[in-house]
Amino acid sequence: MNTVAYLRPRSIAEVSECLISLPEARLLAGGQSLIAAWRLRLCELTHFVDLQDVPDLKDIRLEGDALWVGAMCTHAQIAESPLIVAQFPMLSALAQGIADAQIRNVGTIGGALANNDPAACWPAGVLAMHADIVTNQRVINADAFFQGFFTTALKEGEWILGLRFSRITWATYLKFEQVASRFALVGVAVVRAANGQVRVAVTGLGQGVTRWHAAESTLTSAWHVQSLNKLEFESDKVLSDIHASAKYRAHLVAVLCRRAVAANTGESAAMQRQPLITPSDNGSSVF
Ligand SMILES: Cc1cc2nc3c(=O)[nH]c(=O)nc-3n(C[C@H](O)[C@H](O)[C@H](O)COP(=O)(O)OP(=O)(O)OC[C@H]3O[C@@H](n4cnc5c(N)ncnc54)[C@H](O)[C@@H]3O)c2cc1C
Repeated sequence: MNTVAYLRPRSIAEVSECLISLPEARLLAGGQSLIAAWRLRLCELTHFVDLQDVPDLKDIRLEGDALWVGAMCTHAQIAESPLIVAQFPMLSALAQGIADAQIRNVGTIGGALANNDPAACWPAGVLAMHADIVTNQRVINADAFFQGFFTTALKEGEWILGLRFSRITWATYLKFEQVASRFALVGVAVVRAANGQVRVAVTGLGQGVTRWHAAESTLTSAWHVQSLNKLEFESDKVLSDIHASAKYRAHLVAVLCRRAVAANTGESAAMQRQPLITPSDNGSSVF
């Protein structure tokens, strides 16, 4: 393994200069994904550019009616922020459900978004909330930011300063955990705006976070669990792996979406009787 230099810039301008003058440098947030990827030789780099001394990247504050969360805010900081707990509870609950205390105390929201792991929780929460991702160059809405498997709209030399979340009426995020890591086997974020518009974002499907447009339009027309009765998430858009089949994951999307809506409406989330689908489902059905 080649020697890698370690840099600790002290301002946003210095970080941007590092990325321009050292194209093979990589930003280091909490190192929870990057260090493992580097040690496994999944990425090559010449310099780590550590963000921890840059002021302002750890801020959580209200900007008018919107919430600003700096890129270097850890999951634990977000989970415990009194402002977020009181006014944006879905974000604090999502953060509290990530991994374990060690990872929550060093892993960051900026690192999670830039990494865009297909089983990560933040992409679903941020996409459903229609948040803006603010970089050193521009503002990118979540709809344009997430571009598939470990891929984002960030260009060379571009990096995340923080996120802006608009206030919404109601939101929840539910996941079915992969037990060893607590990454989402499937995770579903459902958000309802004041005008009744609903957004549903799904993670854990293997190809990167995605919206479930059919559920969004159905729930926008009628905010009831029953509205979802005839909807199925198409399993041809889902990958199978050793943890679960595509069919099982698609089924979980529907289950979690129903539970999310039920948590708001007070209805039962139970599905009509249907074949039991198991994690290793091979197409045969059991009642
Ligand atoms: C065992 C384990 C379990 C986990 N469980 C979950 C889970 O349940 N749910 C979940 O959502 N996540 C989970 N994670 C992910 C974890 O919480 C971190 O969010 C993720 O690993 C990113 O880590 P980091 O913030 O330390 O970023 P790093 O590892 O330091 O960086 C990750 C990538 O982002 C880039 N980067 C970092 N900061 C910026 C920035 N500001 N702008 C642009 N690029 C940047 C880096 O260059 C690198 O490419 C888990 C991780 C592990 C190891």
